[in-house]
Amino acid sequence: MSVPVSETDTFSPDKKTAENTPFYDSICKQSNVSYHFNPEVSQYHFGPYHPMKPFRLMLTDHLVISYKLYEKMDLYTPRRATKEELLEFHSDDYIDFLAKVTPETVTKLPESTLAHFNIGDDCPVFDGMYDYSTIYAGATLDASRKLISGMSDIAINWSGGLHHAKKYEPSGFCYVNDIVLSIINLLRVHPRVMYIDIDLHHGDGVQEAFYATDRVMTVSFHKYNGEFFPGTGSIDERGMDKGKNFAINVPLKDGIDDESYVRLFKSIMEPLITKFQPTCIVQQCGADSLGYDRLGCFNLNIKAHGECVKFIKSFEIPMLVLGGGGYTPRNVSRLWCYETSVLTDVTLNHKIPNYLPSYDWFGPDFSLHPQLDGRIDNKNSKKYLESVKQDILEQLRYLAYAPSVQMQEIPPDITGLTEDEDQIIKELNEEQDGTRETQNTKDEARVGELRE
Ligand SMILES: [Zn+2]
Repeated sequence: MSVPVSETDTFSPDKKTAENTPFYDSICKQSNVSYHFNPEVSQYHFGPYHPMKPFRLMLTDHLVISYKLYEKMDLYTPRRATKEELLEFHSDDYIDFLAKVTPETVTKLPESTLAHFNIGDDCPVFDGMYDYSTIYAGATLDASRKLISGMSDIAINWSGGLHHAKKYEPSGFCYVNDIVLSIINLLRVHPRVMYIDIDLHHGDGVQEAFYATDRVMTVSFHKYNGEFFPGTGSIDERGMDKGKNFAINVPLKDGIDDESYVRLFKSIMEPLITKFQPTCIVQQCGADSLGYDRLGCFNLNIKAHGECVKFIKSFEIPMLVLGGGGYTPRNVSRLWCYETSVLTDVTLNHKIPNYLPSYDWFGPDFSLHPQLDGRIDNKNSKKYLESVKQDILEQLRYLAYAPSVQMQEIPPDITGLTEDEDQIIKELNEEQDGTRETQNTKDEARVGELRE
């Protein structure tokens, strides 16, 4: 059986990226790149039918090692996040619950407690759940510390990027929001942090945490129709109070292809970066926006997804690079290995090294670039994408300048929210609870199709 591979570019290069393409092995400036990975994180199981498979991180690491990318990076095996570190964002009672509950004790808890902590099919209590969360959050925090100290220009943690977790509860397979924790840390030193999310799903947890501050601009590209998980991410969600217009949402429809995605991404990101002038960027590289993802509905190939990472890198701003969703493990790992090569300026042979311990996973094509587009019709017309772009550029016009801050000004409450703002966001969440229940019911109905 032959599987088509996608070796040629399926989008046109732009001038800026082309100019920044390095000459490999030449004397051009290389970034200091660090790779933060604790292999223990890949050993946890959400349950046999759950789409989140932490072993995708093991596959990624195998690829990164087999391609010898470790020669180009500083490698760290980070410690776990402490409870105190998690409490920088999450509530006391939630972290207590996470730390104490086990698959045995959860069966004895009343329904109301499970509902209160949003425990269910999406976010089950599994063996080691708290340890798992502290491992990936510890790695993201470690990466943020290397950026703060200036030891790294680019710090990578593929086990992080769990963008749905909320202050009081887990959501969408995410228990602890490592992204929010790392941005809180970065804000101690960086006046302005930009968060860019190219996961299939809306980066709701991060948007919500920084909805009322102008020191973090959140930008999320995602599928949106009002129902698709997590139900938020309309173009009209723009932030509030001081944060008004500092939340950017790019709602997309099914089947977006390489050319349209890359073009839209660059045409939006370039003016946003120029205007906001972030001193640090956090990019969440969720792999469920690839074609053929088990829970996906886009048509992206690995090179197009990686082109977004390459484009952001070309601005030469310190950058934290994180994973996220991604439910077809062999493609998730191909993507994140490829993106590691982009970040380290290495060109990889598309043929996967045959001494890889998990080589069989990558058959029958054994290529880093299987063709992943073409499964779903592109429902994004040129007209629709142009109108989205125009709306966002219009929103950008309201940002007159890059906000400056007194450097001693550390947000009082970590997220910078006042009690009133906290209450408004709580109420917004309660309104959305209906949507979430509908989604949970839908997801339950899909259990059959998820069994492989
Ligand atoms: Zn996702």
